[in-house]
Amino acid sequence: MEIDSMVANSALIRARGGGGGKGRSWKWKDMLRFPHISQCMELAKTLERDYYSLCVKQPIGRQLFRLFCQSKPELRHCNSLLDKMGEYEVKSDEEKMSFGMQIINRFLSRQSSECVQVVERYGEKCRESLEEQHSREVFIDCTDDLHEYLSGAPFLQYQQSMYFDRFLQWKMVERQPVTKHIFRQYRLLGKGGFGEVWAFQARASGKMYACKKLEKTHVKKGKGEAMALNEKQILETLNSRFVVSLAYAYETKQSLCLVLTIMNGGDLRFHIYNMGTSGLEQDRVQFYAAEVCCGLHHLHQMNIVYRDLKPENILLDDNGHIRISDLGLAVTLSEGNLVRGRVGTLGYMAPEVIGNDYYGLSPDWWGLGCLVYEMTAGRSPFKRKGERLIGKEMERRIQEEEEEYGKIFSNETKDFCRLLLTKDPRHRLGCQGSGVYGIKSHPFFRNINFRRLEAGVIEPPFKPDPRAVYCQDVQDIDEFSTVKGVILERADNDFYIKFNTGSVAIPWQTEMIEMGCFKELNVFGPQGSRPPDLDW
Ligand code: ADP
Ligand code: MG
Ligand code: MG
Repeated sequence: MEIDSMVANSALIRARGGGGGKGRSWKWKDMLRFPHISQCMELAKTLERDYYSLCVKQPIGRQLFRLFCQSKPELRHCNSLLDKMGEYEVKSDEEKMSFGMQIINRFLSRQSSECVQVVERYGEKCRESLEEQHSREVFIDCTDDLHEYLSGAPFLQYQQSMYFDRFLQWKMVERQPVTKHIFRQYRLLGKGGFGEVWAFQARASGKMYACKKLEKTHVKKGKGEAMALNEKQILETLNSRFVVSLAYAYETKQSLCLVLTIMNGGDLRFHIYNMGTSGLEQDRVQFYAAEVCCGLHHLHQMNIVYRDLKPENILLDDNGHIRISDLGLAVTLSEGNLVRGRVGTLGYMAPEVIGNDYYGLSPDWWGLGCLVYEMTAGRSPFKRKGERLIGKEMERRIQEEEEEYGKIFSNETKDFCRLLLTKDPRHRLGCQGSGVYGIKSHPFFRNINFRRLEAGVIEPPFKPDPRAVYCQDVQDIDEFSTVKGVILERADNDFYIKFNTGSVAIPWQTEMIEMGCFKELNVFGPQGSRPPDLDW
């Protein structure tokens, strides 16, 4: 390894190790200074007063609404009850019974001092369905009803309180214009079609990100405007632990920038082929497949087909969880409609995509079949190791040939791949009535508890080395060429403005909380005294 690479790597490793405020700029408090409440009035007028968005989905909104509830004797125990009912969902089956009973005795029993009166009437019903054992959705109705109650009078009161004023102040900070000065830049991580991807750090909080830069001249030359905007708009609507999140979108003079969850553990291609062995152990294959399945499910619920499933696009984080990345080819299906388009990567395209047929979500389940096959065998299903193929022959094999399964495939894995690699999408697993549930209940996944997996409480079978940099050396990544003769005009600006929307609410607020900025700045009253119980 060359010295430049070593320096770049060790700077990155040091920055990654930051935490407890270490990576913050010394001016961080100025960068996050609250405006006076009188400057928030415009926002107060225009903000949509939706309980679910303001008090449940947005992390800072949720915290402030909770502080408000904490300050009201009659609402004080709602938070704990909501937390416990959430925890119940992800308890293992053995723990559910006693944990559920504890919840009922503490919060849903009249004689308890912590009883939450507005939903107390659910106590008996919950106790019964808990005793029936098989009924798992014990607290769903109670949870819904509690939110229903909170979204009424308490939500109105909240909006008159100092906690909501503070929310507006945070919102104003969130909506500050975003420029390149907000970030520190570390090493180059990779190269894409329109530009480079770099490790970045938010100066105000110290949080690390990956910044995918799309060079304006390249985008224009390659007529990639619609594609870039599509990727950005799809990313900003998603919120899944199995898909990279978009935290900021902004522009510089030369580029359009997508600031994404940084994935330090390398991509699955690297892990399948470059770690000495070819192929992965079965427990890792199952785990990654299950997480990919959850990511695809999230996309599909929003009617998005991903269309680019392959090992390179599945990235590992520090802990060994995966996320789907590179949503450049994803497309939103309009209600009940199908799309057409021969897009994807050669070797991973489904037969219906190659055949230029109309399709819905089916290509992604084909893609999952290819991925499981490749993780297991250390080669893709329609190409022998080291074989060079022309496109036409690859397409012919995908449409006509049956894939072969060596001894390395267990019976369940073989059956699972076969069902997913069914040529006719109407007969493919995942594409029938039961949809994704058909996939999740296949014996291949018998060791996976999807509820716990979705809650992120399952320990990954492999943890990347925190001292390693799982990507090519800096000088081995080809330099990004410059385009000549492309002139940026006024008309291009319309597109840049649509792209340049700054921070994305949920990831930005998560950053503030996770990095401790929220806690340090969210003090009320003089000398950081606890918030008084009185409303202003
Ligand atoms: P393109 O759409 O142009 O193919 P990608 O989104 O695939 O661009 O990014 C190009 C490369 O940058 C990837 O192959 C990977 O090496 C690296 N990369 C992309 N996103 C991330 C991320 N979130 N974390 C770490 N590296 C990334
Ligand atoms: Mg890519
Ligand atoms: Mg792409």
